[in-house]
Amino acid sequence: MSTVRRRRLQNSSSVPPEDCIFCRIVGRKAASYPVYEDEHYIAFLDIAPFARGHTLVCPKKHGETIWDMNEMETAELFRVASKVSKAVVNAVDADGFRFVQNNGEAANQVVAHVHVHVIPVKMEDKGRFTGRKSFTPSEMESTARTIREGLSSLSRSDK
Ligand code: 5GP
Ligand code: ZN
Repeated sequence: MSTVRRRRLQNSSSVPPEDCIFCRIVGRKAASYPVYEDEHYIAFLDIAPFARGHTLVCPKKHGETIWDMNEMETAELFRVASKVSKAVVNAVDADGFRFVQNNGEAANQVVAHVHVHVIPVKMEDKGRFTGRKSFTPSEMESTARTIREGLSSLSRSDK
């Protein structure tokens, strides 16, 4: 079997878990608009979304990049992200979605706690860079609620 060399990724935003904004969200020390939670994973709306419903899915355990997780944890993270994507797409009536997962400063990772972006896309935005959007707190809450409700009906009907 060949040995894969793992070089250290550079992360300018590297911080200890106690100062990590996503760990603070996990610990309810910082506010968020949560859409999903289980024993090991959490999902909440991105504060500066590229589209209504833009959601971040994170492991609760702090790790900077995907290389800090074992393969089963990575598989589980994407299983949760896939489930969340269905409720996100339904909630905002999107036509498609992107998973984006940045690792390291060179890849534009800004928050050094592993996360998967779930970004819904409408056909009218196909091929366009739409930029960050701003929504009121009540719009964010209502979007998060719709996604949460979608997820609970998904888990009833499964999957
Ligand atoms: P990255 O570039 O690291 O993949 O993406 C980090 C994302 O986290 C960005 O899209 C940014 O808007 C989002 N973000 C940064 N700080 C916060 C925060 O305090 N709360 C929430 N919900 N999202 C955040
Ligand atoms: Zn963290």
